[in-house]
Amino acid sequence: METTDELPAAPHTIDEFVKGYEESGTLRGFRCRNCGLTTATWGLACSRCGKPDLEEAVLSPKGSVVAFTILHVPGDEFLNDAPYAYVVVELDGGGRVTGWMPSVRSESDLTIGARVRYQQNYKPGVQFVKEADAPRAG
Ligand SMILES: [Zn+2]
Repeated sequence: METTDELPAAPHTIDEFVKGYEESGTLRGFRCRNCGLTTATWGLACSRCGKPDLEEAVLSPKGSVVAFTILHVPGDEFLNDAPYAYVVVELDGGGRVTGWMPSVRSESDLTIGARVRYQQNYKPGVQFVKEADAPRAG
């Protein structure tokens, strides 16, 4: 991979970026103008092709759970929510984000591949809820 001493200027700080998550109600990420890779991860260069040619993109609020764990010992801001699930979600159209699901209280409440969507919340982080369940699942 080619490296350069000169990094392109970021359009804003990471703080502002994260705040945008919490205040705008949309998940934001980046799309590579060179190869089209869509990612939720902050970066100055594409993780696939290495080109510093990323533009901001709005990510899908829907996706599938690819990994999760149940947290029983929460951070201060989540004291009343434990236990809850910490999830990794692969968004439709690209982008992988971590978030939390207060409605999931044990391993049996969630499965890998479950369909979820982002729900804006006053609490920090990216909160997901299960997509409306079909009348008869399974
Ligand atoms: Zn790329």
